[in-house]
This record gives sequence, structure tokens and C-alpha cells, in this order.
Amino acid sequence: MKAPPFAYIRAHDLTEVFDLLEHHGDSAKILAGGQSLMPALNMRLSSPEVLIDISRLQEQAGIHVKDGHVHIGALTTHAAIGESSDIRKHLPLLADAMEHIAHPAIRNSGTFGGSLAMADPAAEWPACCVALDAQIVLASKAGTRRVAAREFFQGLYATAMKPNEILTEVVIPIPGAGTRHAFLELARRRGDYAIVGVAALATFSGGAISDLRLTFLGTGEKPTLATSTSQVFVNKGFSDASLKEAQDLLGTELEPSADLYSSAATKLHLARVLTGRIMKQLAA
Ligand SMILES: Cc1cc2nc3c(=O)[nH]c(=O)nc-3n(C[C@H](O)[C@H](O)[C@H](O)COP(=O)(O)OP(=O)(O)OC[C@H]3O[C@@H](n4cnc5c(N)ncnc54)[C@H](O)[C@@H]3O)c2cc1C
Repeated sequence: MKAPPFAYIRAHDLTEVFDLLEHHGDSAKILAGGQSLMPALNMRLSSPEVLIDISRLQEQAGIHVKDGHVHIGALTTHAAIGESSDIRKHLPLLADAMEHIAHPAIRNSGTFGGSLAMADPAAEWPACCVALDAQIVLASKAGTRRVAAREFFQGLYATAMKPNEILTEVVIPIPGAGTRHAFLELARRRGDYAIVGVAALATFSGGAISDLRLTFLGTGEKPTLATSTSQVFVNKGFSDASLKEAQDLLGTELEPSADLYSSAATKLHLARVLTGRIMKQLAA
């Protein structure tokens, strides 16, 4: 199939983007890397009247570290995140997760901001941002505001972003010393969207876990921070008993739906398997 007709405008700066969004409202869509939007247009799942191409706003791309936080511009590509020494040093969870996103051609065009704005429940970046307690920066003519990743993702492909806003940056606190991370996912083939995945951040003090954030992807309408399940391991060692308790609790926190390939029960089973694997990895 071919995309329905649309007008195309290449934006030269953010002010122009804000004016265009104010003018066109819901009938306009931002075009960043195009790796999700263009397939959606071609399949006629979306039919905006106007595409506002922001891909030339290169000041919105890049990674910098400031005051204990890593700032990632919305137009930073998946590949650039994977190659960044700042990311490997301060947020290795993102470097590990990047290895699971699609294939090189898609990673070279697809953007961090585009993935978050898309809010696909099986995508890697949204779950990582929730686990890392990221702040999403949204900008409009009225100014900027920050929304915690935990509140930003609101449902299936739904976010807290308003039609006149654009995602410009993500600000992530650098985890403290004594923090360990892990990312695991199960997909039908390497590079496919995950069936189920989990991003984990664990803080250790005195040999025990003092804080744990197990955030699942592919197991509901949005990334899910499994707080009760995570809590099972806090101030306790990892044991068969704690794992069993956590795996039982997981059924109360995740609400996977069946898709073409996996039933809801299969996804829940896989999430339990990943919980065991990731806890062993964190405890090792
Ligand atoms: C074959 C294939 C396999 C893929 N596999 C994976 C995978 O395994 N994991 C994964 O996470 N992704 C996967 N993707 C999606 C890919 O990661 C996309 O790059 C990403 O989801 C969207 O980023 P983009 O820059 O291409 O956004 P676009 O496609 O340009 O836009 C996506 C949506 O976000 C909006 N948008 C984009 N940027 C902004 C912004 N700054 N502010 C406000 N709204 C914005 C657009 O209006 C649109 O609605 C795959 C894609 C393909 C084609």
C-alpha cells in the first residue's frame, strides 16, 4: 500500500515547529527518523494532513553530561546512543538495550525521541527510561515542562504529550556507585520487537539490594514498573523462595495481551522466566 496524500514541511528551527503545531493542531504529525511513522502511513494506520520534518534540527541531537545527569537530545539516533562513551560510562543499561533494537539501517535513522513519542509497549527505550527514572522534556510555544517517564507513558501508543508539544530532550540521573543494571529480552528473531523484555536497575548496599526497579516491556499497554515484585528482593538475598514469591506476585502486576504469536499466559510465563534470569545476573 501507499501512504495517503499529505503536505510536507521541513522545519528550520523550533519556533517554526511550534507555529506549525499551533496552526495545524491534530492534523499535523512530527516526522523524525520516519522508521515508525512511514510504515504506519504506508499501511494507512495514520493519515495526517501535514508532516513537519524535524530531522534537520541537529541542535536537538546529541548527548551531554551535566550536574550528575545525562541529557539526550530527542533526535539522537539509536546508533549514536550505542556508540556513545558517555552512555557506556554512565548509563550502560541503554548501551545494552540498544543491541536489541531492530537492525543497523533502522538504528541509523530512528531516534530516541521518536521511540518515546511512539510509546510502543514492546519498545526498549520506554522501559529503560522508566527504570532509570528519566524526565521527558516537552516544549511548546508556551515554554517547556518536564514529565517523569513513569507518568509520560499513559497507555497503548499514548503519552502525556499534548498536540501542540514536541519532545526535545530526555534528562536521566546518573545512577550512584553500587548500582548494577541488566537488560534481557526474548524476541522471535534477533532485531524483532520483543515478545517480553525487562530492564533492571539494582542498588546494593552492604551486600544486599536496597532498591530495585524491574521494568517490563511487552507485558501490557505501557512499560510496567513491577514495584511489588521488585520489593520482594529488597534487603533479602536472592533465593529460590524469594524468586517463587516474586514470580507469583508478577501475575498481579502485569497484564499482557495475546498477539498473533503469543498468548497472554505465554507472555506472563516468559516474564517470570526473565525475572529469574535477570535476578541471577544482578546477584552474580
Ligand atoms: C523493521 C523495524 C523493526 C523495528 N524494531 C524495533 C525494535 O526492536 N525496538 C524498537 O524500540 N523499535 C523498533 N523499530 C522502531 C524504530 O525504533 C523507530 O525508529 C522508532 O520507534 C521511532 O523513531 P523515529 O525517529 O523513526 O520516529 P518517527 O517514525 O519519525 O515518528 C514516530 C512517532 O513519534 C512522533 N515523533 C517523533 N519524534 C517526535 C518528537 N521529537 N516529538 C514529538 N513527537 C515525535 C511522530 O509524530 C510519530 O507519531 C523498528 C522499526 C522497523 C521499521
